[in-house]
Amino acid sequence: MPEWMRFGNTATVQICIRWVDDSEPPERRPAAYGWSMGQLTVHVASVNVTATRLGTEQQPYVGWYLAPFLDWLATNWVALLHEERFPWPNPGTAPAAIACNRALDDWIAADDPQGQEQYADAQDWYFRHGVRSAAAGGTFPDLFIRRVADDIELSWSGAPMEFTREGLAFESSAGHARVPVREVAETILRTLEWAVNHPPESPAQYRDKIAALQAKVDALRNVEYLELVRTYVPPAVLKRAIVAFDNIGQTSPLKGNQAAEPYINELPPAVAMFGSVSPDLSTHDVTYLCEQIVAGQDGGDSPELADLVANRHSATLGVPYRDGHRFAGELLEDMALLDSDFIDVHAMCSRLEIDLQETELETNTIRGVAIAGDGFSPRIVVNRNHYFNQNESGKRFTIAHELCHVLFDRTRARRVAHASSGRWAAQGIEQRANAFAAYLLMPRALVLMHLRDANRIEKFDVQHLASALQVNESALLRHLRNLGLIDDVDRDRLRDRSA
Ligand SMILES: [Zn+2]
Repeated sequence: MPEWMRFGNTATVQICIRWVDDSEPPERRPAAYGWSMGQLTVHVASVNVTATRLGTEQQPYVGWYLAPFLDWLATNWVALLHEERFPWPNPGTAPAAIACNRALDDWIAADDPQGQEQYADAQDWYFRHGVRSAAAGGTFPDLFIRRVADDIELSWSGAPMEFTREGLAFESSAGHARVPVREVAETILRTLEWAVNHPPESPAQYRDKIAALQAKVDALRNVEYLELVRTYVPPAVLKRAIVAFDNIGQTSPLKGNQAAEPYINELPPAVAMFGSVSPDLSTHDVTYLCEQIVAGQDGGDSPELADLVANRHSATLGVPYRDGHRFAGELLEDMALLDSDFIDVHAMCSRLEIDLQETELETNTIRGVAIAGDGFSPRIVVNRNHYFNQNESGKRFTIAHELCHVLFDRTRARRVAHASSGRWAAQGIEQRANAFAAYLLMPRALVLMHLRDANRIEKFDVQHLASALQVNESALLRHLRNLGLIDDVDRDRLRDRSA
């Protein structure tokens, strides 16, 4: 048997590959890829996602024609490493292996045109990100690859394949991990380059096929930077941003410190920002956001803000609302704010030297914006045109929400440029920022301090508490329930105006 070729490392991502002899005579092999019988193991976060079991027999690798899989990696290179958005409504916070399979299940039976379109979109997404879509009759793990901010998310369901050998199961149960972009990109690229530069001895009829795959892999080194950005940022928004930055006399914000690599390792802040906005954001709004990014350049965090950020270890997303509550509780302690009557977010921002701005954007999809980190003077923008920001309590909630992004949602490059915009921003960090905002404005100790009797909360208490903490009643009721101070029945009763 030939030696295994190993790329990457098992703790993050590793691909092992080797060619093996094909027992089928050439005339009975598939014409397109019959040259490529091989074996493959893939490790993600120390889990071998290719290991299978049949009865008592275990096998650490999958074996089949590998050309369709390799060709799929090369064809979908840009999408695999740069496409983050799910195309279906209510994308939720689950990793792709759950979210995509669920979307396919939900829409497959739809017989209305809109539902069928949703299904087609989900299926196209699956073809770009689901390894099994390239199985070509072999047994492959249900593994998904997609971009998430400055990471690649690898997720797998562990589900057996349909139409495979009876009883054949994958050893790993469902799981997911986030790995730095460069590690995944280099592992895939080196695997592809090895495969096309060292193909197995094969009959002459396959030479063209091998050459075609080689050309495709070679072309990856020349992929255009803008094509990578266009996959992360909606094309119409990107066009407007290019024009806006040109008008300001700046071309670098979209480009960042891009090295000569065929992938974007760290999203430049402008790219990250425009990756989370509505695909039809207007010229006015795009220009405004470009100006905000440029205006803060050359600044940096104040010493206290830098200190608070340095002490955070929030890279991984746990249960969003628990994390949000915990982060807010810790911050209030760190800033020694728990003995105030209410939490003054304006004072917090001025103490941390975060510039606060209000503006009226044309869109009502963006609630607020957060920009901070290396090379930026930190700022928070509140959009008066968002329904949430119609009164002072709502604005306070938005400022608290953006504070969470400033403090906890920094990229690997310790920066954040984020537009909070409903369905387009990543749902997990949005839920976390909302939970953070609720707890920051309504910390448990402060809620209890203002209550007469925590065991019997009446309509009067809710009104009193809302005005003491300067929050909206609806947000307060939701939060009281999350704190376990009222249950769903209480919440309905207290919400009912006639009660
Ligand atoms: Zn947000």
